Amino acid sequence: MNVSGMNTIIVDKKEKALTKDEWVLEERNGLVLVFSPLLNKYPNFVHAFTTRLGGQSKPPFDSFNVGINNTTDEETRKDARHNKALLCQALNLPFQHLITAKRLVHSADVVMLETHSDPGEVDGIATRTRLRPVYMTFADCVPMIVYDQAKHILCLIHAGWRGTAGGIGKEAVQFMMEKCDSKANDLVVAIGPAIDSCCYPVGVDVVVKLMASLISTDELLKMVEAVEAFKQPCSELKDELKNMTGKIWDLINKLNLTDFFKLGETQIHVDLKAINAYQLLDLNVSDVDITNFCTSCKKDLFYSYRRSYVCGEGPTGRQAAIACLV
Ligand SMILES: [Zn+2]
Repeated sequence: MNVSGMNTIIVDKKEKALTKDEWVLEERNGLVLVFSPLLNKYPNFVHAFTTRLGGQSKPPFDSFNVGINNTTDEETRKDARHNKALLCQALNLPFQHLITAKRLVHSADVVMLETHSDPGEVDGIATRTRLRPVYMTFADCVPMIVYDQAKHILCLIHAGWRGTAGGIGKEAVQFMMEKCDSKANDLVVAIGPAIDSCCYPVGVDVVVKLMASLISTDELLKMVEAVEAFKQPCSELKDELKNMTGKIWDLINKLNLTDFFKLGETQIHVDLKAINAYQLLDLNVSDVDITNFCTSCKKDLFYSYRRSYVCGEGPTGRQAAIACLV
């Protein structure tokens, strides 16, 4: 297993290309949007990942917040609705047909709009209907847009660590293959701005679950069980935790998973984008395009739940991923 500088990934000893083109920021109608060079190649497909630039939201949501579930303040929600209308205008999409999940719930559940016109609580929405823009909101979690270039079908995915551990990308691709007759090698995927390993240290319970989403070995399964059973009283927690982190890092090296995990000062850091890319390429999708924008590092460009939570910055907004067949 190998992700080298995000340019290639090795799956079952076969090297697969990840798109190498640089993602660019582009201004449209006063908004600054990010586009995948891979998805930009398809003329009948519109997509964008938003930044916090543009719009009318006031601090601390300044200024292009599109999330309405993260606040009860009516003024903030009104600003977010206005911003969503601006986004549709900038992309020339019908705002009145804009659709999203009722709530994103960190599941591995995917629905088809043609059978669920109200998607409910899911983290994957697929559609084959033209001019039906689908969006989801993010602040560190991984946005993924899957496009079936042969059958003209899209699927938008929200993958936090739980969804990644549950293999939501794989679930979505398998869903498209079963329900829409998609072929894996007709599928292209863009993985948008999300928190990168530089800013994402996590607990050992999260690390082992993510490792298990990449590979299955007896030794790893035993480690997952050991972590599950790990419920020491607080006073003993620190030493025990250090010990466990060391053991897991040894196993990461042994299983050749160092392209997905990094050893930080006290904790292991996780690269959710690379793990999702690997899961997708393992199913033989034809191409995966990953941005290297980190939502936590790029404070001026993106909202970050982790940054606002860890640094005590207080509430923050949400950016969007949007996709539409035209
Ligand atoms: Zn970062």
